Amino acid sequence: MFIGHFGVGLAAKKIDSKPSLGTFLFAFQFIDLIWPIFLLTGIERVIVDPGDTTFTPLNFIYYPFSHSLLGVLIWAILFGLIYFLFKKNFKSSVLLGGLVISHWVLDLITHKPDLPIFPGNDFKVGFGLWESVILTIIVEGLIFITGAYLYIKTTRAENKIGKIGLWSLLAFLMVIYIMNIFSSPPPSSEAIAVVGLFQWVIIVWGYWVDRNRVNIIEKS
Ligand SMILES: [Zn+2]
Repeated sequence: MFIGHFGVGLAAKKIDSKPSLGTFLFAFQFIDLIWPIFLLTGIERVIVDPGDTTFTPLNFIYYPFSHSLLGVLIWAILFGLIYFLFKKNFKSSVLLGGLVISHWVLDLITHKPDLPIFPGNDFKVGFGLWESVILTIIVEGLIFITGAYLYIKTTRAENKIGKIGLWSLLAFLMVIYIMNIFSSPPPSSEAIAVVGLFQWVIIVWGYWVDRNRVNIIEKS
């Protein structure tokens, strides 16, 4: 799953307006941000295997440190803890930890049974939404649109950057998503990892957008 994750991160602003959009994007995308590093260092492995599932040619053969249930729980606790040490905000820390876990839950829906429960164990789970391209696009698209709508409703552009930055980010994510569906399979796992590293740019983009938008305080 790709843009569906971003939908969840955008929607989080509605629940808690304190953390920056960049921090939310950082949290829910965390295990996909560290995954390319594990690939490049040879700790985890992916192979290009067209037809592995209908939606993606990537076959995630070994990624227990970034993508096992136990792994993600540990990352979530660490993420929440570090945020708490800096910001001393318990509610936001719990929400951010939950967002780290949300990535795994959405992956659980889309992946074939390739998500490990803990490292060193062969039991793997995944409900396989990726077997249907149409259903994948509908589910991810709905989450993404809902998230974008909630973020736009919760914040207001303070200046031109706040407006253009947000819309260009949303457009950029959609373009990558569509290109991904129609492009030919990547040449190697190194190529996947290098492209994956570019996701860090999206995090910085999130911080930049959020700095130029203000929260709309709702009257209750
Ligand atoms: Zn993932």
